[in-house]
Amino acid sequence: MARTLSVPFVDLRTQHAERSLITELQVAVAGVLREANFILGEPVSTFEEAFADYCGTDYAIGVDNGTAALELALRAYGIGAGDEVILPANTYIATAFAVTHAGATPVLVDADPETYTIDVSRLEDAITARTKAIIPVHLYGQPADMAPICALASTYDLVVIEDACQAHGATYNGTPVGSLGDAAAFSFYPTKNLGACGDAGMVVTNDPQIARTIRVLRNQGQHEKNHHVLVGHNHRLDTVQAAVLSAKLPYLDEWNAARRRHARHYNEALARPPGASVVRPPDTDSRAVYHLYVIRSTERDELRSYLREQGVATGIHYPIPIHLQPAYRALGYGEGSLPVTEAYAQQILSLPMYPELKEEAIEYVADVIHRFEHSASR
Ligand SMILES: *Cc1c(COP(=O)(O)O)cnc(C)c1O
Repeated sequence: MARTLSVPFVDLRTQHAERSLITELQVAVAGVLREANFILGEPVSTFEEAFADYCGTDYAIGVDNGTAALELALRAYGIGAGDEVILPANTYIATAFAVTHAGATPVLVDADPETYTIDVSRLEDAITARTKAIIPVHLYGQPADMAPICALASTYDLVVIEDACQAHGATYNGTPVGSLGDAAAFSFYPTKNLGACGDAGMVVTNDPQIARTIRVLRNQGQHEKNHHVLVGHNHRLDTVQAAVLSAKLPYLDEWNAARRRHARHYNEALARPPGASVVRPPDTDSRAVYHLYVIRSTERDELRSYLREQGVATGIHYPIPIHLQPAYRALGYGEGSLPVTEAYAQQILSLPMYPELKEEAIEYVADVIHRFEHSASR
């Protein structure tokens, strides 16, 4: 009888405990308490500058979450009622909500069977006279195939807003995500590759006019106090979160390197016999940052239960596609309309992935999967 190891799906507590990060975060938060500059305090612009620099963009505008980042970017480009915005069917539902909240209509395109990102070969068919923008999503930390997407956008005069909420630090042909489209949205939800101690988000862009508009929109439509030039929102980045994020940003590359190392290790361990009934994530030219390590299995639910019994926590991203959610019944996509996304929703399984994951845990997870395959093949 093999021993059982308990492997969580993510583990922020270990990250905080390691290398006195918890002390660094306490110092960062204490600085804000001392100044009591809670609303758009100086740590906000400090982090904005550092993050723009990290992405290789001229501007970064801090907001209160990734969904708001997407919505404000769309609004800044004047996208709203009567407009269509193309996005992948295989994404977190917030991508679609941002489009709907901006007043536009989400148009869903199926997933590429290899990369899980938007199927570029189906993009052109989705473009109509009303299409104003495309939102490629760098899902699971895997950059979408941006070259053909940007080429089509240029042909049809469409705005490209990257949803980089799962891909901080990923690169595509050597260029960081966030600087590939017209603007990009990031989320700093705690479990993202760069996470706050709460909700936070960011828009990055090279366009000074768009940056200015987003700054006004996020802060009650004011360009100076009590001068409300636009119908605005309260979508400001919290000063405490900005201070936390500045303290964590210097570790991001190291954390991403660890995620890549773990992904390689999983790939090798899972390829070993007797296995190979699971489909591993793609190896592409882009530098993915493995926000999630997603495998596929035709016996996904049984495999997931088996892993759970053996102490391994897993996730499914995402079990019910956007177009089959009750919230989006009115979009009118029926079952069978986006077959790759629908099939994969039955097969995908996210294995434990976080920088502090131990090698022995990866070996253990792979062993459990092999044991499952062995018992299933008998
Ligand atoms: C997390 C996420 C969002 C939303 O970000 P929040 O900060 O939770 O609002 C949007 N799109 C994708 C792909 C995400 O993973």
